[in-house]
Amino acid sequence: MTEIPEDHPRHDSLVARHRIEEGVEKGLTSKQGLIAQGRGEAFDYLLGERTTESADEAERVAAASLLRARHPVLSINGNVAALCPDETIELAEAVGADLEVNLFNRTEERVRAIADHLREHGASEVKGLTADARIPGLSHERAKVDADGIYDADVVLVPLEDGDRAEALGAMGKTEIVIDLNPLSRSAQVATVPIVDEILRAVPNVTRHARELRESGADLEAVIAGFDREATLEDAERAIRSG
Ligand code: ATP
Ligand code: MG
Repeated sequence: MTEIPEDHPRHDSLVARHRIEEGVEKGLTSKQGLIAQGRGEAFDYLLGERTTESADEAERVAAASLLRARHPVLSINGNVAALCPDETIELAEAVGADLEVNLFNRTEERVRAIADHLREHGASEVKGLTADARIPGLSHERAKVDADGIYDADVVLVPLEDGDRAEALGAMGKTEIVIDLNPLSRSAQVATVPIVDEILRAVPNVTRHARELRESGADLEAVIAGFDREATLEDAERAIRSG
């Protein structure tokens, strides 16, 4: 990978681009993933490439939801695997969640490549290969999940998810945490907890909140109950419009 100087004003975004590019080269990320990253970047630019106060609050609520869950699962696609494998594995460990590969453009080869990649990064178990259950209301390939993974989960973190599947998971009654820089995307709009933030900033911050909530013995129910998803989405849109 080309060295990017630490003090380059666009350092983080250039690092992310290179990771996605490498992800495509390694067969982890689909070409569509390049387009998704570009869309995300545009919104991040408008947000000022920062975690807003309301995103930070959503990240704290996400942490509380994952900690309180009976069975939390983090859904991994090709962009997540390329951008932040270590950070995602760390979050799974911090909240006791399963990791499951779940792809929009599913091929068995890419599912296996991503699972191997996560294991190389230290994940002990990766779900998504069995694919013995279906999310109702979606076309065959996109509906595939593990019966003892996302299908059984009560809380699912779906970063950079497409709107359709986000909606279908919500219809199954799951608490859905979405990370998506576009507050107007259907994924963010249907999420129980929409996090409008860049994934590389969001995931480690959810982990940090989870550790703090646990150490302080905070009342998780109260943290979750105090959340206003509409206000969060409105705030994100305001931040984008005003810069
Ligand atoms: P809709 O949700 O309206 O159905 P879509 O899901 O089809 O749209 P995609 O381009 O497939 O649209 O989804 C990618 C989404 O992920 C975009 O909304 C984009 O803003 C967001 N995104 C891309 N990269 C990142 C990133 N690094 N961090 C956070 N969000 C990102
Ligand atoms: Mg979307």
